[in-house]
Amino acid sequence: MKQLASIFILLVLLSFTHNFNPQSKEITQKYFPDFDYEINTPAFTKKKGFTNYNELMDFLNQLQASNSDKMQITFIGESQLGKKVPFVKISKANNQPKLKVWFQGGLHGNEMASTECVLFLLDKILNDPKLAYLLDKIDIAFVPMANIDGYEKQDRYAANGLDLNRDQTKLIIKESKFLKQCFSDFNPHVAIDFHEYNPYRKDFAQLGNNGVTSRYDVMFMSSGNLNVPQKLRDFTNEVFIKDAQKALSQLNLSFQEYSTTHVELGELHFSQGSNNARSSATSYALANTVSTLIEIRGVGIDRTSFKRRIYTGYAIGLSYLETAYQNFNQVLEVLNNANKEAKLAIVSSKKESSKQQMKFISLEDNEEVSIEVLVKNASKSSPTLSRMYPHAYLILPDNEAVVSRLKILGIKVDTLQNDTLISVESYLINAYKKGNTLEEGVYLQDVKADLVQENIRFVKGTFWVGLNQENANLAIEVLEPEAPNSFVLNSIIPAQLGSKLPIYRFVQK
Ligand SMILES: [Zn+2]
Repeated sequence: MKQLASIFILLVLLSFTHNFNPQSKEITQKYFPDFDYEINTPAFTKKKGFTNYNELMDFLNQLQASNSDKMQITFIGESQLGKKVPFVKISKANNQPKLKVWFQGGLHGNEMASTECVLFLLDKILNDPKLAYLLDKIDIAFVPMANIDGYEKQDRYAANGLDLNRDQTKLIIKESKFLKQCFSDFNPHVAIDFHEYNPYRKDFAQLGNNGVTSRYDVMFMSSGNLNVPQKLRDFTNEVFIKDAQKALSQLNLSFQEYSTTHVELGELHFSQGSNNARSSATSYALANTVSTLIEIRGVGIDRTSFKRRIYTGYAIGLSYLETAYQNFNQVLEVLNNANKEAKLAIVSSKKESSKQQMKFISLEDNEEVSIEVLVKNASKSSPTLSRMYPHAYLILPDNEAVVSRLKILGIKVDTLQNDTLISVESYLINAYKKGNTLEEGVYLQDVKADLVQENIRFVKGTFWVGLNQENANLAIEVLEPEAPNSFVLNSIIPAQLGSKLPIYRFVQK
C-alpha cells in the first residue's frame, strides 16, 4: 500500500514537471539544440520569464533614440486593460519607390518567441551594417506585441477571453479593429504574422507506441483560399516560402507546411494550410498581400531552445526582406495584376483529403518515425459554391456596422448621390439555422440564399462597394452570405428565413 502511494506521488510529480516543460533534455539535444548567438532583446537581459510591457517600451525607446532619423514609434490603440499598443515604422528617406513589409508578433499571448523575434529583427536591421542596404528599397512596419494583455499573462487570448486570430474580419474585439486599421493604412506588399505552435498536442498521444511530438522547428502557413488569385498564391509559395526554406536548410533548421489536428467521429484528422479569412494568413492575402503565418515550435516549453526559436523567426523575416529586395519589380507586377484575371466569386469550397506520411519524434525511444495520417489540405481546395464576380455590392443605408467594418478592412465604400433604379441580384434566404452557443463571441447564422433578379429603386445614401479595387477579394468573403466567415454567418448582418438581405449584387452581364 505504501509502495502504491509513493508510486502515485511520483506519478503526480512527474506529470507536474511534465506539464511545466514537456520537452526532454534528450529531445532538445538530439533535435533542437539551442543556438549560441548573441541576442540582446529584453528577454535575454534576464534569466527567467519573457519581455514585459515596460521592457518592451524601454527597448523600443532606446532604439529610437539612436535611430531617430529612420525609426518612428506611434501608438495604434489601447488594449482592453489600457496599455498603449506600439507600432514601429522604419524607413530611409531617399525618394526611391519602396516596397512595404509588415512583421507582427504576439497576437497569441502564449507564443513567446513571436514577439522576441520581431524585436530581434528590428534591432538587427537597425544595427547590423550588413543589412542597412535593405532600407534603400523597403519600408518596414513592426507590431511586436499585438496582444499585450495576453502576452503579459502568457495567455493566448485577449483580456475578454476571445482569440484575436479568429476575429480578422468580424472585428468584434477592440484590438482587432485597430490592428486591422493599422494594417490597412500601411497597406503592405508582404506580411508575416509570427506565431508559435504546441509540439505536444493531446491528439498526438494516440500516435506511435507511446505518443509522439512534432519534428519540425517551424511550419509555414500560406493561404489556400480560392479568392486569393492563383498567381499570388503561387508567388508566395514558390518564391518567398521557397527562399526562406533554403535559408533554414543552411542553418540546419527543419520545416514543413502548417498542419493541425482534430478528432472527427473518433478518428484523428490533420488539416493542412488555411483558407478561412478569420485568421491573418488568409485575411492578409485577400487584401492583396504576399502573406504568411509562421508557426515556430515553442508553445509550452518555456525558454527551452529559446534562441534557436527566435533565430528561426529572424532567419525567415530576413529572407523575406531579401526576397522582396531582389524581386522588387516582380512583387509589384504580381500584386498589380493579381486581380485582373477573369474569375468567379468563390463562396465556399472543400479541402482535398488524402493519406500522407508525416514525420514525428516517438516519445517511446526519441527516434524519428514516419506515420501515415489522413490530411485535409487547404492548398488543394475545390469550389462547392461559386457565383459570377459582381461589379459591385449595394448595401442599404442603415447598415453602419457593415460599412464601418468594410472600411477597417481597407475596402473603399461610396454612396449613391441620388435615388437610382438599378437592376440587381438580391439574396432570398431559403435556409436558416442559428447557433445556440457563442462561437468566438457570436451566435452563428448558417444560411443558404437564392439569387433573385429585380429592379430596385435605391435611395440616395445607399452604399456602393465597387469591386474594381485592391481588396475586392476580401469583400467577397465577408459579403457573400454563405461564405465561411461572412458578416451574415457572424451575425453582423441579421437574416431571417424567407426574407431578403440588405445587400445586393450588381452584375454586369
Ligand atoms: Zn498563434
